Amino acid sequence: MKELFYNFAPLIFVSVCSVIWLIAFYYCGISNLRSILVAHIITQLFLFFACGVIIKDLYQKANRDCLTGVYNRRSFFSKMPVVYKIMLPVSLMMIDIDNFKRINDTYGHQAGDQVLTQFADILKSNARKEDMIVRLGGEEFAVVLPQTCKENAVKMAERIKRAVEEKNFTFDYVSEKITVSIGIVTTDFPMNTDILLKYADKALYKAKEIKNMVVAYEQLELAKAR
Ligand code: GH3
Ligand code: MG
Ligand code: MG
Repeated sequence: MKELFYNFAPLIFVSVCSVIWLIAFYYCGISNLRSILVAHIITQLFLFFACGVIIKDLYQKANRDCLTGVYNRRSFFSKMPVVYKIMLPVSLMMIDIDNFKRINDTYGHQAGDQVLTQFADILKSNARKEDMIVRLGGEEFAVVLPQTCKENAVKMAERIKRAVEEKNFTFDYVSEKITVSIGIVTTDFPMNTDILLKYADKALYKAKEIKNMVVAYEQLELAKAR
């Protein structure tokens, strides 16, 4: 139904506006200038309102992950240059749920979806207003921490790790425990987002060797180690 609306939006708008005009002419006559003006204003207001609602809806759809409500990969890449401009140092936390496939395999894909949603809620409740939570894909998330040094990023990551350990993830009357691995990179200067993500992925890869672990690097440490 909604898709039908989007597909025929121009036609629907033109029809509604025409109806408003016809009603105005029917009741007031074509020679009544004031009624033409009123019909015109009502039509304009309707159009502005409808377009505003649609633009907001489409913006949300384009920038948010539909399952968890956090930002999606696309908006991560488009917002990072702005973060660099005003909020250095920036820490990037990359989080991967450990052994997530087991949840899907044991309880089904829907249960997995519920775990993802509940995990995103943990991230939301641990993040500050200025942090940006992103679902990079699958069971991989990122949290962008503006004006955050490595030590504070690690503190936050440990808090998230503990909150996940303590939570009972519930679905279909079943309760399960999960853990997460977290990689962090901190940079003092603007850099290519792909490279920053690659560095965070390196830290995550290290954390994954043991799992349920936090590993953090300064960007400079990584650059020297290359
Ligand atoms: P590791 O500890 O090494 O990260 O293992 P893992 O099982 O977490 O990782 P793996 O890459 O083996 O499996 C990830 C699984 O996530 C496989 C894929 O089917 C599942 N997945 C990806 N996206 C979604 C989703 O949107 N919903 C659900 N339920 N599962 C998803
Ligand atoms: Mg993964
Ligand atoms: Mg995983």
